[in-house]
Amino acid sequence: MAKPVVIKKADEMQARARELSCAGKSLGLVPTMGALHAGHESLIVRARRENDVVVVSIYVNPTQFGPGEDFERYPRTFEADRKMCAEAGVDIIFAPDSLYHRAARTWVEVGGLEEPLCGMSRPGHFRGVATVVTKLLSIVRPDRAYFGRKDAQQLLIIQTMTRDLHLGCEIVPCETVREPDGMAMSSRNRYLSASERKQALAISHALEYCRAEVEKGERDAMTLLGEMANLLGGQPDLEIDYVAAVDARTLDDLTTLKGDVLVAIAAKVGNTRLIDNTHFEGLK
Ligand code: AMP
Repeated sequence: MAKPVVIKKADEMQARARELSCAGKSLGLVPTMGALHAGHESLIVRARRENDVVVVSIYVNPTQFGPGEDFERYPRTFEADRKMCAEAGVDIIFAPDSLYHRAARTWVEVGGLEEPLCGMSRPGHFRGVATVVTKLLSIVRPDRAYFGRKDAQQLLIIQTMTRDLHLGCEIVPCETVREPDGMAMSSRNRYLSASERKQALAISHALEYCRAEVEKGERDAMTLLGEMANLLGGQPDLEIDYVAAVDARTLDDLTTLKGDVLVAIAAKVGNTRLIDNTHFEGLK
């Protein structure tokens, strides 16, 4: 098992990536904030299959955290991450100390898609995400970059921005990896106490309920969302941020589920904010 090379400087990463591209190698990038789990691993495995060279970036991006959020306490587990990357055959770990010049003043905003859903309670979050992903794509210039559907709004914003700015990279969506009981894997799950972990399961249960009802023919958003909110409301330490059914391309609220639909939940369990979703294509 070859050890991945660790690169900490953006200039060095950019030069190395350019060399590899010039030598005719295809590059796959998996952007992460570290604390890697099987969800990240599935992105890495796919990137390994589809590219000559795999770069995993590990960077806890300060600009996507709001005041009072968990930037300081976000899990940083570099040695374990490095081990997982080695086992998965990653070639390069890009782990910069900072990606922001002290006088940085350039930001990437994707109008209309940043404000709804998570944007409501995390103003500025997606501007931070769009900006850091633009930086990573500019530094590595990958042929393909891999993102999880668990962060569906983030994925849509990145797809839109890549198209609008001609970034010339294929954005590859990857399915959500779940624990055996259905809970979506997340670096933040490790914050949960045993009781919170049990209560958090209501999130994936509510989404499973929604899938089952839609399969039976239910299309009324109020009926579905109301029942999902009831399922979540049974948990004493769970506070709903939103339960929404939106058009998967515009994120506009739907009254009837039709076409490509995203049903998404965000909730705080204790102090931990969790998100999950399910998506439907071509609903009639
Ligand atoms: P993060 O380190 O949380 O910023 O996530 C890095 C990438 O991994 C993002 O594209 C996420 O959507 C993706 N990801 C996180 N959790 C999962 C999961 N459970 N299944 C699939 N992808 C995931």
